[in-house]
Amino acid sequence: IIKIENLVKRFGKLEVLRGINLQVKKGETIVIIGPSGGGKSTLLRCINKLEEYQGGQIYLDGVDINEYDVNQLRARIGMVFQQFNLFPHMNVLDNLILAPTKVKNMPRDEAVKKAKVLLSRVGLLDKIEAYPEQLSGGQKQRVAIARALMMDPEIMLFDEPTSALDPELVGEVLDVMKNLARSGMTMLVVTHEMGFARDVADRIIFISEGVVEEEGPPDEILKNPKKQRTREFLRRIL
Ligand code: ATP
Ligand code: MG
Repeated sequence: IIKIENLVKRFGKLEVLRGINLQVKKGETIVIIGPSGGGKSTLLRCINKLEEYQGGQIYLDGVDINEYDVNQLRARIGMVFQQFNLFPHMNVLDNLILAPTKVKNMPRDEAVKKAKVLLSRVGLLDKIEAYPEQLSGGQKQRVAIARALMMDPEIMLFDEPTSALDPELVGEVLDVMKNLARSGMTMLVVTHEMGFARDVADRIIFISEGVVEEEGPPDEILKNPKKQRTREFLRRIL
């Protein structure tokens, strides 16, 4: 569903992505790990056209993403960030229905119905009228996931969705993500939650200094990494 060829991204003189190659099949869950500053967030942001890139191609269903209208692309590729990014002046319902009513011209009553279905799926139907500041971090993140799902994305990108959370709130967000993965969603997840990676990932991709240094099934990468860099990284985080 996604094919990335030789992706190069620079910030001024700094080459952050130095020829990334990656293919993602429909329904796959890929966990991306790697040292800070290695380019993980930048890679996700390029896929969603939040960043321009200087070299290489990204294809969605065989079509270069630059051929798509940016709103259309972001409707098909949902993204969840570390910092939730909910609209603070809107309640949960309005956060959810904003994009589908504006971008997809979905009738309000249909959007409200869909919001209720998704909120119950993430266990937050009772918070439908709450404002973000009234929610815990874990609840905010579950709302952010529900909001992304409102657009019926084909792919979901997660950038360290649990790293801003208190430890006791991490599990509820990972559970929602596990269910999503099991429902067949195609997911790219930057996370250092190795339990999640072991349980859910079809592949783990280790990115370091702007290249895919190593990739493989969780068993291989976690138990028997081939590259020295991967071993050192895992030793530090496990
Ligand atoms: P972390 O694990 O800390 O989130 P990361 O792998 O996500 O790291 P990126 O955020 O993709 O890394 O950053 C890769 C490099 O690009 C870093 O050196 C960072 O300083 C640089 N960078 C990121 N965004 C910008 C920007 N807007 N302007 C200039 N440099 C940037
Ligand atoms: Mg990052």
